[in-house]
Amino acid sequence: MLFLDLDRFKLVNDSLGHPVGDELLRAVARVLRECLRTEDTVARLGGDEFAVLLESLPHPQDAMATAQRLERALRTPFQLGTQEVFASASIGLVLGSAVYTQPEELLRDADAAMYRAKALGRACVQLFTSSLHASAVETLQLDAAMRRGLERDEFVVHYQPIVSLAEGRVVGLEALVRWAHPERGLVMPAAFIPAAEETGLIVPLGARVLREACHQVRAWHALRPGAPPLQLCVNLSARQLAQEGLADTLARILAETGLPPSQLELEVTESVVIGDAERTGRVLGELRALGVSLSMDDFGTGYSSLSFLHRFPFQKLKVDRSFVGRLAEGEKSREVVRTIIGLAHALGLGVVAEGVESSAQLGALQRMGCESVQGFLFAAPLDAAGTEALLRDDPRWEGGSVLGVSSRAAIAAP
Ligand code: C2E
Ligand code: MG
Ligand code: MG
Repeated sequence: MLFLDLDRFKLVNDSLGHPVGDELLRAVARVLRECLRTEDTVARLGGDEFAVLLESLPHPQDAMATAQRLERALRTPFQLGTQEVFASASIGLVLGSAVYTQPEELLRDADAAMYRAKALGRACVQLFTSSLHASAVETLQLDAAMRRGLERDEFVVHYQPIVSLAEGRVVGLEALVRWAHPERGLVMPAAFIPAAEETGLIVPLGARVLREACHQVRAWHALRPGAPPLQLCVNLSARQLAQEGLADTLARILAETGLPPSQLELEVTESVVIGDAERTGRVLGELRALGVSLSMDDFGTGYSSLSFLHRFPFQKLKVDRSFVGRLAEGEKSREVVRTIIGLAHALGLGVVAEGVESSAQLGALQRMGCESVQGFLFAAPLDAAGTEALLRDDPRWEGGSVLGVSSRAAIAAP
């Protein structure tokens, strides 16, 4: 059984109109029929989803070969009227076996494999495996545990300082969520954010983080009277951005907590913008209109970063820590970082380097004109009490000597 879903079909409908979308579906159906045997069954399940049942194949591997042939055939551009339309499909494949007693079970697993194909970058075939089933079960269990955790208020926000090299002080804090699990201790985002994104729980969780962080940073301003206000940076996931009413939620949180919008910065990764570009552009525009700023996180790890930088209204770019980590490897890796920083400045964007762990890295970044940094060299993410103590007591974070770890003069030296 194959489960086939067209990639970015919505884009065709939205940009070329529904009649062209309908025409594309008919053309896809024709290709499917042409590529299959007369004894195979093709069905349109709805929208841009098709299922194919391949019966009595001589060898199981023939199923994969057929799926791949379909996938390739659908990549050939379609001539629809005067338009040339490019399509591709993500296909999930499941092999029948004695464990399946109901047709719905095959369809369910083919669907799960299709989702995996989408997650792996679309336009490919994925075979359903029992580990895929296990991971789907795991995600559901994790989801249930997270929902309980959210009810019991187990999610906490930690803050990592962002240091301006020019000003030599903390200019901002990045909010990073952790799960204070009653049995497992402090759980890091990598262990639950992907599942929360998959199940949609990231929407209420993200709103909770946003509200708590805005409230907290607003309260901390009072700790540093006279000092320029701290910028709060909060991560936004693709799922949150796709949610209707994000701008309304944000406006409400800003109003409730009293944090001025100019002090909030939302970080999004490149993967967020590869979906529906037109919609993404509109939502980012709505957020900008509220007065918050936007930064592109983990720059250089995703796709097509360059076109997105000028297409969407970003004010800042965060150099991914993998590039910073390789700074010591040689001229080539230094050149990559230098180029990213130069590109950002040429486009009028600010730059933050992430994951700065050594003073050698700091020195190199400073020589390249990078204006702000974040990393274990200055501070790891701290809980609210730790952050407050740092903001209140440690003189390094006030005046000009925040870089006390290795004094500013030393940093400036080659
Ligand atoms: P990110 O936004 O790129 O955050 C930076 C990550 O780098 C954090 O990991 C931080 O602890 C880590 N880091 C900072 N300095 C250093 C360093 O010097 N060396 C090394 N090796 N690592 C450093 P963390 O807190 O585990 O968060 C991981 C990711 O989870 C974040 O990456 C972000 O994408 C996501 N995330 C965290 N909190 C939230 C949230 O509230 N909402 C959403 N949607 N995503 C979140
Ligand atoms: Mg971030
Ligand atoms: Mg990052």
